[in-house]
Amino acid sequence: MSKINLKSLGKDKMKEFVKAEGLPAYRAKQLIHWIYEKKAESIGRITELSKETREKLSDPAYISNLNLLSRQASKDGTEKFLFGLEDGESIESVLIPDKDRLTLCISSQAGCTMGCGFCLTGKIGFKRNLKAHEIVDQIIAVMRIKGHGSRGMGQGITNIVFMGMGEPLLNFDEVVEALKRITEFMGISKRRITLSTCGIAPKISELYKKAPHVNLAISLNAADNRTRDMLMPVNRKYPIEHLLSACRKIPLPTRSSITFEYVMLDGVNDRPSDAQNLVRILRGIPSKVNLIPFNPYEGSKFKRPSDEKVFAFQKVLINAGINAFIRKSKGQDILAACGQLKAGYK
Ligand code: SAH
Ligand code: SF4
Repeated sequence: MSKINLKSLGKDKMKEFVKAEGLPAYRAKQLIHWIYEKKAESIGRITELSKETREKLSDPAYISNLNLLSRQASKDGTEKFLFGLEDGESIESVLIPDKDRLTLCISSQAGCTMGCGFCLTGKIGFKRNLKAHEIVDQIIAVMRIKGHGSRGMGQGITNIVFMGMGEPLLNFDEVVEALKRITEFMGISKRRITLSTCGIAPKISELYKKAPHVNLAISLNAADNRTRDMLMPVNRKYPIEHLLSACRKIPLPTRSSITFEYVMLDGVNDRPSDAQNLVRILRGIPSKVNLIPFNPYEGSKFKRPSDEKVFAFQKVLINAGINAFIRKSKGQDILAACGQLKAGYK
């Protein structure tokens, strides 16, 4: 019989496991504490349990860990981690320092099914969904590698973003479970977590019903359906008006907003008229816009617009009263910037 991976168990299943092993109920909470806060790599490391109990549990169970395959550092301080999963698939996570922030960008799938034309992750295709523990483990592994403390962010990472490989809302149940574990088990505040989606409209309201209320980012990338259809196949299923109507229904707390990401592609979506369209369609939604000048990679058919074009676009938004930022993409020299993750796949 194969062993049970304790990290594959949520709260209720952990309670069942503890009961089945004839241990008192409080052991479930203790195991969760040792796995998610103290980041125990194996049952043997859970020193709060007696040696006999550790040995007894190591027979039917074990604790999985991501396998660090490689680690690259950019000259701007960004670090990229390539992790191997138990079945041999691989994923990447990126740690991005910026002034007073240290953001960890994590993956929700190995590869992606969505095939957005500008994104390298889309080009490698889809390998598989990640399990909740494989999502959470990226945080645990990076904290361990960097020697960060236990509860919460432990003085290290300040923000978590679901902006790595994959479309989180197409791996809905595991992502919801991961969000619960990150907030409840690890003690990380939901206000410091952002989930980015290409726009799976019906799943947006479901997310608000089922998961902790984290910040939401929408990869909009175009302000009219013709352009968005061409760039992001998902738009043919959930066109802009459908997507934005889902955004309008979100019960946002006062003073918070939805972030719209807009990859800027030279000659495709970067005209002042595109900016004016964007202003028009976002009307009535508390929004912030992040402009991301295209990050090139070998074989990409798109180009990054000139700085002048990016500034002019931003100005139209700001003049219309929209908070618009130009996101400096970090880690380009190691293919760690937005849309450049491929985890060693060809
Ligand atoms: N699948 C989700 C999560 C990934 S986030 C989503 O698409 O939202 C990755 C972000 O990087 C998205 O906002 C995407 O639009 C952006 N992106 C993809 N390829 C890019 C590239 N080559 N240059 C700049 N941004 C890119
Ligand atoms: Fe997938 Fe997001 Fe890349 Fe589109 S932009 S291919 S949804 S990871």
